[in-house]
Amino acid sequence: TTMQPDSRIFVAGHRGMVGSAIVRALRAAGYDNLLLLDRQALDLRERAAVEAMFEQHKPEYVFLAAAKVGGILANNEYPADFLRDNLLIQTNVIDAAWRHAARKLLFLGSSCIYPKLAPQPLKEEYLLSGALEPTNEWYAIAKIAGLKMCQAYRRQYGFDAISLMPTNLYGPGDNFDLHNSHVLPALIRKFHEACEHNKASVEVWGSGTPRREFLHVDDLAQACLFFMHEYADEMTVNIGWGEDISIADLADSVAQVVGYDGLLQFDASKPDGTPRKLLDTSRATALGWRPKITLGEGLAETYAWYKKNRAEAR
Ligand code: GDP
Repeated sequence: TTMQPDSRIFVAGHRGMVGSAIVRALRAAGYDNLLLLDRQALDLRERAAVEAMFEQHKPEYVFLAAAKVGGILANNEYPADFLRDNLLIQTNVIDAAWRHAARKLLFLGSSCIYPKLAPQPLKEEYLLSGALEPTNEWYAIAKIAGLKMCQAYRRQYGFDAISLMPTNLYGPGDNFDLHNSHVLPALIRKFHEACEHNKASVEVWGSGTPRREFLHVDDLAQACLFFMHEYADEMTVNIGWGEDISIADLADSVAQVVGYDGLLQFDASKPDGTPRKLLDTSRATALGWRPKITLGEGLAETYAWYKKNRAEAR
């Protein structure tokens, strides 16, 4: 059994960057029986509310893309919120999906859940083989618990829960807040505003030497549909672009796309985070999935989206 055009599909977190990309991909593929409830209608941290929703609507397929996310500073500043909100959201949704006999659930992990000093590229089996990066361990611990919950429910109850492990994501709908966002949207905004105000330099956090891999969120959304159809195993699957780039080089690329030709000033008082977290995506490619959107294309498209949606962008 797999998703049919009329299957009842619940996308948890449909207003976020990932959830909205999954909704776009589902609609484009002809699925329109989508259950989308915003925060006012359903607080996923409230167990009783989640139970009642599943009781009422009995979704058949669940994409669990709801999470409290943020960049390196936000994770550091709100450890309790990151740990609690993510544990509550995923526990409530996974448990209710099983209890109400959903056919399948897809959970999303994150590449930051691998050990800080694991060999690169990161293979799925390196999970839990070493200590985490301290700046995001709260989020990581919650995501690891979610992944394990999917495994446990499959083993004990035979519930068809799968998980994917995306690398750093970017794209339309991203958070462009300068304090809480991830590096790529933050740089787009900083360079854009530097152009507007004729600023001679732009501040880039850390040393510029950490390397990150970036995947366009529409590629992840395609992966979510693909694996929802094709995959039923407890092992998570890495979803990434397959190459990484230093933060300094990323900053150059963003400056170029935005058309900023001033100086980059590296601010060593801000954390670097993990030195590198490139995913080994050979499992995903062996299973038949491949990303399509290059960083160059994706940056240009995301910058265009930002300019168009600046008023509403977070
Ligand atoms: P991480 O991948 O979990 O470390 O999260 P981020 O995307 O927030 O940060 C990635 C890297 O980019 C870190 O080394 C940051 O110090 C660096 N960085 C450079 N400038 C910025 C910025 O303006 N915002 C953020 N969030 N990170 C930045």
